[in-house]
Amino acid sequence: MRVLLVEDDPVIAEPLERGMKRYGHTVHRAATGREALRAGTAWDMVLLDLGLPDIDGLDVCRQLRADSDVSLIMISARDSEADKVVGLELGADDYLVKPFLVRELIARMRAVQRRRASASPPAQDPFESGRPGVVIELPAPGRTLDRYGRVVLDRQAHRVFLDGAEVALPPREYALLAFLTAQPDVLVTRETIMSSVWDANWFGPTRTLDTHVSALRHKFGDALTIEAVRGVGFRLTISPRTTTRPSAS
Ligand code: CA
Repeated sequence: MRVLLVEDDPVIAEPLERGMKRYGHTVHRAATGREALRAGTAWDMVLLDLGLPDIDGLDVCRQLRADSDVSLIMISARDSEADKVVGLELGADDYLVKPFLVRELIARMRAVQRRRASASPPAQDPFESGRPGVVIELPAPGRTLDRYGRVVLDRQAHRVFLDGAEVALPPREYALLAFLTAQPDVLVTRETIMSSVWDANWFGPTRTLDTHVSALRHKFGDALTIEAVRGVGFRLTISPRTTTRPSAS
């Protein structure tokens, strides 16, 4: 592959470049956001650091995505769920948290290319089963879907399905759902949720959390129960698989 590596820190960029060359890839380096944008989009893969000296990597991604569908993996030391969600919402194909092994990066690059190759005829979206109540698994190797009764999460693609139909969630609602479903039946404190889903240094009101919980309750009906424990936090319970939807729908 012809790879554009956008990374300002030579201590990271140099071994990465050497490693990728060992796997037969051609590497062009950019050390700033401006250089990255000047380098254009005629690459097989862009590896984009988020912490750049001039333009934030998320903005670089947004600008690249404005006129290009180039394959793009974000590489970052920021490992908050929120950053990942924003990155993927902006159109990154994947998100890798530093430090990582070159081996792992190469595997992710290949997975992105495979996923794109298998998704290229747009009429054959594997999620479009056309039949309510049926979820079709993605064909990409290694792709797993997490099932919680009637709710299915594709954690890699940040997509959610209820009874087989996709539920479009804003990034923060997705992050909250992903966080709570990872620990069903556990009472999670407001502080833990705020620091994990919102910001590691959250001080202040947590009303926004209640708003997001209400939105999830509304969207998932009786497939999930998010129980509020006054003064403490929330507990998510998953309802069993049996659906109670009217059969005529
Ligand atoms: Ca950096």
